[in-house]
Amino acid sequence: MTSDKYEFFKVVQEYLSKAASVVHLDAAVEAILSQPRNEIIVHFPVRMDNGEVKLFKGYRIQHNNILGPFKGGIRYHESVTLDDVKALASMMTWKCALMRLPYGGGKGGIKFNPRNHSTAELQRITRRFAHALGGNIGPDYDIPAPDVGTNGQMMAWIMDTYMNTVGHVNKQAARGVVTGKPVASGGTVGREKATGQGVVHCITEWARERRFNLEGSTYIVQGFGNVGSNAATILSRYGASLIAVGDHFGYLRSPEGFNPHKLSEWTRQHGTIQGYPSGQPISREEFFSTRCDLFIPAALEGQVGAAEARALDCKLIAEGANGPLTPEGEKILLDRGVDILPDVLANSGGVTVSYYEWVQNKRSESWDLEEVDEKLEKAMKNAYREVVDMARSKDVDLRTAAYCVALDRIQTVYRERDIFP
Ligand code: NAD
Repeated sequence: MTSDKYEFFKVVQEYLSKAASVVHLDAAVEAILSQPRNEIIVHFPVRMDNGEVKLFKGYRIQHNNILGPFKGGIRYHESVTLDDVKALASMMTWKCALMRLPYGGGKGGIKFNPRNHSTAELQRITRRFAHALGGNIGPDYDIPAPDVGTNGQMMAWIMDTYMNTVGHVNKQAARGVVTGKPVASGGTVGREKATGQGVVHCITEWARERRFNLEGSTYIVQGFGNVGSNAATILSRYGASLIAVGDHFGYLRSPEGFNPHKLSEWTRQHGTIQGYPSGQPISREEFFSTRCDLFIPAALEGQVGAAEARALDCKLIAEGANGPLTPEGEKILLDRGVDILPDVLANSGGVTVSYYEWVQNKRSESWDLEEVDEKLEKAMKNAYREVVDMARSKDVDLRTAAYCVALDRIQTVYRERDIFP
């Protein structure tokens, strides 16, 4: 299964419609939420190192802002499509509502492979994209963050570009235009690991409920970037062993277990797990059929179709990535009794700590790691509880339940505010 022809937005619309019928969502609210509010497409020229000028296409989708400013990452990947960004933006709306954050949903991206560009080119591409978006982003309007292919450095470039376009008087208040910034440039401690940390909070809650002992358990991870490497490193502290891992280059297996710290260090230096001096190369098929207790997909959407779902031999899937399971794959796994912690819950730690960063920027504060970690743990555990309770009371799967909690919250506000005019 690849994400090439995967109609991701349609899939998310179907999840919405399923949950809408469970919570009896008003037809008008469902209609509003079924499409993004704004779809922004920009084309902008960038000079390459060799002097040539290349035209890039960038997207920013603003799905909904009834609860607060649009919020969501920016993706740099050769497979980015308008459809994907629409799907990802709408998922941010559910995620922020589920986590009780005062944000709506947004997402952006540029279709290109950042690995084919120098740091200087990446800086020019990022700054021109931010400039092309202009007033379509802002600290109280639409707040980007890192996603696949982007990082804190790129957020610092966006912030700096934005700051240089607002008047001098407002410059310092503009810091919160992006989150996921490096700490020295106004980021928060704990943001880089936050999504992986949140995934692990969900896994430990699941293990507690199921009386499953993580000590001595095994897990596999697809995607070893920000989310995958941090989730793996944190999970290893519970005595779980990483026995197979994969990224855009390929897959490796180590029955005795990888050291996630060393593997993370390797990928930081080399940009991939390729060449890591331990483990044996395996095929994608072998990766998916590796017997394990837990699987953390942390790469891209649409990775687990029917074939992968039949091959997987695990007890739990914790979705670090957004939309990693196709509906066909998910159905097969649920029928086989595999538990699935859905993306809007499992990977919501990132946007939650992004919110903490934004609050610190607004208040000119800097919290310590203990404070960030404590708040995140409480938020993740509360959300986990709410989703599990909803699943029990409505007799639905956890994904539908997560959507139901989010939709209930959004619907309350639409009912109170009603439709303008
Ligand atoms: P990243 O760019 O840091 O890492 C992505 C990883 O996926 C890399 O290891 C890359 O090699 C791998 N990958 C790319 N294409 C692949 C393919 N075809 N097959 C296998 N592996 C492939 O990105 P990230 O920030 O870790 O994001 C990963 C997922 O988590 C995405 O779905 C993203 O939307 C989601 N997510 C990220 C955050 C965040 O805070 N960064 C928050 C919530 C959700």
